[in-house]
Amino acid sequence: MLLDRDGTLVEDVPYNGDPEKVRLLPGVRVGLDRLRAAGLRLGVVSNQSGLARGFFSVGQMRAVHARIEALVGPFDSWQVCPHDEADGCGCRKPLPGLVRAAAAELGTVPGRCVVVGDIGRDVTAALAAGAVGVLVPTPVTRPEEVAAAPWVAGDFCEAVEEILRRQHAVQPAVRPAVGRSAGRRGGTVLVVRADSAGDVLVTGPAIRAVAHHADRVVLLCGPRGRAAADLLPGVDEVVEHPLPWIDPDPDRVNPAEMAALTDRLAAIGADEAVIFTSFHQSPLPLALLLRMAGVPRVSGISEDYPGSLLDVRHRVPVGVPEPERALSLAAAAGYGLAPTDQPTLRLRAGAVPPAPARLGAPGYVVLHPGSAASSRAIPPELAARIASALVDAGHRVVVTGGPDEREVTAAVAAAGGVDLGGRTGLAELAGVVAGAAAMVVGNTGPAHLAAAFGVPVVSLFAPTVPFGQWGPYRVPTVRLGDAAAPCRDTRAATCPVPGHPCLAGVDPAEVVEALRVLGVPGEPVGPATAGVAVPATGGSGR
Ligand SMILES: [Zn+2]
Repeated sequence: MLLDRDGTLVEDVPYNGDPEKVRLLPGVRVGLDRLRAAGLRLGVVSNQSGLARGFFSVGQMRAVHARIEALVGPFDSWQVCPHDEADGCGCRKPLPGLVRAAAAELGTVPGRCVVVGDIGRDVTAALAAGAVGVLVPTPVTRPEEVAAAPWVAGDFCEAVEEILRRQHAVQPAVRPAVGRSAGRRGGTVLVVRADSAGDVLVTGPAIRAVAHHADRVVLLCGPRGRAAADLLPGVDEVVEHPLPWIDPDPDRVNPAEMAALTDRLAAIGADEAVIFTSFHQSPLPLALLLRMAGVPRVSGISEDYPGSLLDVRHRVPVGVPEPERALSLAAAAGYGLAPTDQPTLRLRAGAVPPAPARLGAPGYVVLHPGSAASSRAIPPELAARIASALVDAGHRVVVTGGPDEREVTAAVAAAGGVDLGGRTGLAELAGVVAGAAAMVVGNTGPAHLAAAFGVPVVSLFAPTVPFGQWGPYRVPTVRLGDAAAPCRDTRAATCPVPGHPCLAGVDPAEVVEALRVLGVPGEPVGPATAGVAVPATGGSGR
């Protein structure tokens, strides 16, 4: 747990060097005690440009920190940026240096850290490091910073409660022993994720949790998720079938086909089934077929009353990242990740071919403008300007897209870059992404390929669904775009607002700057430019 200081732990007294002026914010003392009691280690990450500006001395700052520790107890790490905006350091938030340094001092990685702060640059620094960011707004927090944050809590205590709840929710529940030996239950488990590639990819950690205990894992997926299903570790067999209550463009329900599906499910001989769904989908129609197929134990997330369709009816509050949402269902069903496994996205070793030789050495930037839902795609005209700006900044650009996006990728690549549009299946695309220094992409399945390889993401994220649920998971990320645009939370597949304003307003210079924040500066191609604005990160003052 990494905490911003001013405005998060203590009242923000500008450039304070006086221990007498330290005032704790409400709930901080109790919240920190709860975190320590839960065994979490605590660090502080704080910009203190007052040092560079000579407003107070290091000694005065230490006195302030001693006063804070006297009030709330010790911290395991103090990370302070002493620089001014003009110093060009790598630690001043929104850059991720302090978060990385704190993680290193605590003997962990940013992906296992949660950062709590009160302004946008705290959250940006967290995400750019690959950590989780929680915003606890104060009256000075800007509305656009609140809109862009992946996780917003009303106060410090509320943030702590939810952090601990989420941590607890992925610990496997004790369940009746039905297997052969303690800790390993064996048997065949049918896992289900019936929608598109991205949905299947984010369910990967939960499927690995099931696979850690099962003898055999069969994955039921839809046609649009098949290519991703074939990339997941832990899956022994894939069964593909469209489900008319999940598919966005479904056929009429055909009784004979449903009967055939039920027979096929029965033939799997599953000891139990775990039905993974998104927050707007129901597991109940499939649960009914599974009951008719004789599956004895069925688990799913359902707000709706399930009657006798579910043995484990799990519920998840809104806002939880999809991979954790699925992991919490696996845990409720009794399945946890192996102790050596982290809850990050991963692909099956050997399933991903190497990138084509003509791309040259790894380190290029993948620009993926398209999306199955046009509301989440980068406007082609903007993507072309981004390609051009990336080339000007010294990046090698590779433009990717599906077979039906060839026209767009050709036009974008004409502005700068190698066009791979329509030339890759999902596995080949994964191979290309694996060699990238970063990926520039909307909210679409391939963003999760980047997460699976730890490749930093510049996410042009249309706010049609919550960023905290669908943003790239546990990978260094910078979010761009207008998070408060009118399409917010509409789940629209086609942009409901003329001009696609949530993404159309992104300046290509923001993308170049985001790459710099992510530690991907490009190769200089001319005289160095100075004074690049930081429009992506917002926040002024501190
Ligand atoms: Zn610094």
